Amino acid sequence: MWRPRIVHDRRPVDTARAQRAAADLLGALGLSLDDAGLRDTPRRMAQAWAELLAAPELELTTFPNDDGYDELVVVEDIPVRSVCEHHMLPFVGVAHVGYLPGSRIAGLSKLTRVVDHFARRAQTQERLTTQVAAELERRLDARGVGVVVEAEHTCMSLRGARAAGTRTVTSTLTGALHDDPAQRAEFLALVRGRGVRP
Ligand code: ZN
Repeated sequence: MWRPRIVHDRRPVDTARAQRAAADLLGALGLSLDDAGLRDTPRRMAQAWAELLAAPELELTTFPNDDGYDELVVVEDIPVRSVCEHHMLPFVGVAHVGYLPGSRIAGLSKLTRVVDHFARRAQTQERLTTQVAAELERRLDARGVGVVVEAEHTCMSLRGARAAGTRTVTSTLTGALHDDPAQRAEFLALVRGRGVRP
């Protein structure tokens, strides 16, 4: 399977520099920081972006699949909050993540952590989808992994095409969820058309 680029070592945030740069950007865009409401905005901007880009460490505890559970495990509507790397504007939606257990199983809450880990960074939705699938396949030794992400990109809905309400759907299916038509159909029937929560 294709291995996506995985960035682990982002340099630490230089808060003072980020604040200066935010002030510069606002000034260059014609806003006046003498305005009472904007005076503290560079600090808040720097903090907000730092938070959006702070991917939490990934601790994916797995357990041996002692009971031999071999049916599909699906967690739906996992919140996705990310930033598109082309415009540095947020994209927001949900992920549906499923796997066919092999030798290991994971705590269900861990699947949401995997999504958050790969979402909280400058990202593309396509790469987010493949990274989550690759990580689960690798860590769980799963017989198949399915990841569907549905998100609204504010770079599309607020500017440019101003296509409010459009959502972008991406999916990655691996192993038996890719190759076995019955398994594939079962997974897609479970997650199809659930829609993005506002
Ligand atoms: Zn964008």
